[in-house]
Amino acid sequence: MHKSVTDPLRFLKGIGPKRAEAFSVLGLNTIEDLLYFIPRRYEDRTHFSAVKDLKIGEVQTLKAGIMAKNERRFWHHRGLSITEISVGDETGRVFCVWFNQPYLGQYFKIGDTLILYGKVELYNNRLQITNPEFEIVSGCEEESLSIGRVVPIYSLPKGVGQRSIRRMVKHALDEYLPHMQDFIPYDIRSKNNLPNLAQSLINIHFPVSGAAQNEAYRRLSFEEFFLFQVPLALRKKRKKEKAGIPHKADGPLADGFMSGLPFKLTASQEKVMAEIRKDMSGPEAMQRLLQGDVGSGKTVVAAYASVIAIQGGYQAAFMVPTEILAKQHYEKIAKLMEGCSSFQRIRIALLTSSLDKKEKEKACADIKGGKIDLVIGTHALLEEKAGFKNLGLVIIDEQHKFGVGQRALLPAKGPNPDVLIMTATPIPRTLAITIYGDLDLSVITELPPGRLPVKTMVFGSRDRDEAYAMIKSQLKLGRQAYIIYPVIEESCALDISGAKAMYEELKKGGFRDYKLGLVHGRLKDAEQDEVMLKFKNKELDMLVATTVLEVGIDIANATCMAIEHAERFGLSSLHQLRGRIGRGPDQSYCVLISDAQTEEALLRQEALVRHNDGFRIAEEDLKIRGPGEFFGRVQHGLTELKIGNPLAQIQLLKSARDEAINFVASDPGLSGRQSGLLKEKLLRRFPEYEKMILVG
Ligand code: ADP
Ligand code: MG
Repeated sequence: MHKSVTDPLRFLKGIGPKRAEAFSVLGLNTIEDLLYFIPRRYEDRTHFSAVKDLKIGEVQTLKAGIMAKNERRFWHHRGLSITEISVGDETGRVFCVWFNQPYLGQYFKIGDTLILYGKVELYNNRLQITNPEFEIVSGCEEESLSIGRVVPIYSLPKGVGQRSIRRMVKHALDEYLPHMQDFIPYDIRSKNNLPNLAQSLINIHFPVSGAAQNEAYRRLSFEEFFLFQVPLALRKKRKKEKAGIPHKADGPLADGFMSGLPFKLTASQEKVMAEIRKDMSGPEAMQRLLQGDVGSGKTVVAAYASVIAIQGGYQAAFMVPTEILAKQHYEKIAKLMEGCSSFQRIRIALLTSSLDKKEKEKACADIKGGKIDLVIGTHALLEEKAGFKNLGLVIIDEQHKFGVGQRALLPAKGPNPDVLIMTATPIPRTLAITIYGDLDLSVITELPPGRLPVKTMVFGSRDRDEAYAMIKSQLKLGRQAYIIYPVIEESCALDISGAKAMYEELKKGGFRDYKLGLVHGRLKDAEQDEVMLKFKNKELDMLVATTVLEVGIDIANATCMAIEHAERFGLSSLHQLRGRIGRGPDQSYCVLISDAQTEEALLRQEALVRHNDGFRIAEEDLKIRGPGEFFGRVQHGLTELKIGNPLAQIQLLKSARDEAINFVASDPGLSGRQSGLLKEKLLRRFPEYEKMILVG
């Protein structure tokens, strides 16, 4: 029978339904899944230290016989159980101890040989390893997979043993590799010094040497990056092939806009605007990502792009994640566009879900009828009934708040509009190209002049009064403040206070001399608006809020923010929140109130105190969390990176991207002789891209 790596695992010898089920829980369903199940670490079992040579304080591998075993229970300690064995060789003894795993005892028989892995410590004057990983070795021939070589160790749930998965992987390699062809073309491999697929899979599981293992890892990482980049390259190419709108960038409207601006643009803003102008006037549709830290002034850039579109008689749509932000943009942009008015009145509409049915119908009719030049709105823009007469530009602000799919919906409402995506979640440029491989990148690298970096400090919850005193000292100067809570309702279980209850408490207690407002995501939009408006008009001194304030809000007189339970926020959220202050000429203060315990939370706070620059903070975030989680938040695609580490392998990543672009350029339909296998692999890896991969 023809063998294919897509065969289910139970085609392997020795895998019954029960095993198959256990593997399926791990996400391993096919032979291919198993072959790509990369070991968590390796153990060099070519030789073992004698007990007398073990180093105290180091993690080591030991091979020794079981000499005694013992199990103790301590009922008065909530039934704590200790399983203890002593193992040794002719040079000495080591005690191994496991807590609360009483079932372990049954595995150990005196006289058996064990391989143990763990940190050797001196405890009560004897050598001890606590909770070591272990394997029992018996004398059969299969042990050649587990002894006398570098041995793979996998991340496994209870019930699947290391030895049995090794055996299965070995079977899979033996039976399927001879039928496997490499889907990365030979030229690409040889140019980048990559071993072929079969060799790589063998050496990633059972490396013949350290060097071979490294090469295998390099190849499989490259492969993963390459696979990820091909669809992006395809998408970019396809988009560029479709005719875009060659907007006319210069004209009286654009001139009026520029000369009417209330401030001088930063050099960075000008540079970015020039890039956008060039894109928009070109024949291809713009696909551009604009990165800029909080407060760097992205809105005016977006307004400028809109003016270019409107100048030529096209409509622009500007999508933002929250109602509050939509309103704010509406007002700001209307103001920014005042300079255009002597030439043409720009008609702006707001489209959000808080409009009542009638208002919404009217807005939609006006937009469709071409009576509106610029629509600013929320997700409501994506609804089916929201259609355009001639949509020429789509802007998406705070893109990380939208899903990848949502992002694609709005541009689909025009023939092939230009697209500008904006984000304040900066990522190092080298990494941005992987995630947004289909977009061109513009970056605003400076803040408007005269901004003072926000001073950030940390208070323990016991010193809350001091923190409040800080806030009050700002309020007394006529400034305004935010106080942020992680949740709306307090949670006794988690011991955290919520915005709602604290609002009542602060109003009557510590802040009774001030006017307070409350905003959170569960208020009706109209209520949110009312509070925000009052705050903006300085009728309120302090806003008690949840993270609804995280995006976009721009009120320069607010110079102080306290963040309660700061340990519960991610670094990027903290940075975005803090971005709400420090927006005017006055010194601003951010107070983190936190009883952080974990190392990560402490690192986050330290990073925030130390750095104001969003790019720097993003780098710290990456360091603290590792790329997997970090990217998970940015865009779902890269969470699928299972092997490669874009941070550690930037060079390899760049090569993979270049190769993907070249490959797609030479075979855009993926129909060439070299592309068949690659296409199959892509379809397996990214079924959601099926349409795009199969076109052509
Ligand atoms: P973000 O990039 O976070 O969206 P905004 O566009 O909201 O930032 O701009 C932040 C504030 O800075 C706004 O009040 C805006 O009017 C102001 N601003 C933008 N550009 C400049 C500039 N070149 N000079 C002075 N102020 C500016
Ligand atoms: Mg903004």
